[in-house]
Amino acid sequence: MSQTTNKTRAFGSPSRYVQGRNELDLLKEYTDAYGNRVLILIDTFFYANYSKKFEEMYANGTSTVKTYEYKGEITADKIAAIVNEAKAFNPNVVVGMGGGKTMDSAKAVADDFKAATIIVPTTASTDAPAIGLSVMYNEQGVHIGARHYVKNPDLVLLDTDIIAKAPIRFLVAGMGDGLATFIEARANFQSASPNYVGKGYSATVAVRAIAQACHETILNKGISAKLAAEAGLCTQDFEDVVEANTLLSGLGVQNSSCAGAHSIAEGITILPECAKLLHGEVVAFGILVQLVIEGRCKDEIKEMYDFFNAVGLPSTFEMLGISDATSADIMKVAQESLKSYWDTEPFAITAQMVYDAIMMANILGKEFQK
Ligand SMILES: [Zn+2]
Repeated sequence: MSQTTNKTRAFGSPSRYVQGRNELDLLKEYTDAYGNRVLILIDTFFYANYSKKFEEMYANGTSTVKTYEYKGEITADKIAAIVNEAKAFNPNVVVGMGGGKTMDSAKAVADDFKAATIIVPTTASTDAPAIGLSVMYNEQGVHIGARHYVKNPDLVLLDTDIIAKAPIRFLVAGMGDGLATFIEARANFQSASPNYVGKGYSATVAVRAIAQACHETILNKGISAKLAAEAGLCTQDFEDVVEANTLLSGLGVQNSSCAGAHSIAEGITILPECAKLLHGEVVAFGILVQLVIEGRCKDEIKEMYDFFNAVGLPSTFEMLGISDATSADIMKVAQESLKSYWDTEPFAITAQMVYDAIMMANILGKEFQK
């Protein structure tokens, strides 16, 4: 357990958050507010279409644009290479359009140029866009730590027309990551653990309200949002869930902290089948484990399993693809998970407790599927 030693409270967030259909068509208007030399890192999947579109967008104006096709891992060497290539251009705005690695690379490159950071997520699958850090890997794709920044992105810009066209699995995974926000924040409030703002401060009233709103939005509107996205529609419920998955979830985690759900997500990826799943999918199963270990009431547990079954989040070993896992495998996962955030729970956690809770979460998952 890691209680805060002082009562000073702090809150971090992006300066601006804009979300709406076709907002990316206005990218130049947004970047003009920050600078006139715009470097855009674009995920390789979107590069052919969008590099052309952006070059046309900036063709007749006072600002200039340079695009970069982003693919592969985010490593310190890769960041240094992008910075080196862009040195002559000397961008004062860096935009990152794509998934987690493209967004996190843009944050790092912007930091090196002391440029404004604009993040354009293309899915609503994680809480990463709004947060002021980059998760770093080595060439082999192994997670080696995080690079922290003194500020969050200046602007997070979501075009929901793009988000609605992404595979549904991303939106559902984002609901899993988003639902962990309140569950983990509550554990942190109870243990009075430090948040992820700077050196770590007490939680604000604001984050308590945000975590609660994130939870209620996803549980109340998640099914409707999924149905809308399956039809490519940007309904009010869809827009609300995209905001919960991205803004509320990001603010929630940065201004409280992770706990059991993300510990399971990190521990369980030692099983190769789970390493292939999306972040939000493994976090989702971690929520169930955390609810069991905390001995939460049956109504809360039932509500969560019912929601998982309705949207297709994994609640059993079978759904995680680990039906063949042995007791020894699960104990290894439990031990591995102790390296993460279990110390923010309000009571001490052992590997045996985690093992029992993982096994029970699977049993309940099978029960609620009947
Ligand atoms: Zn997460």
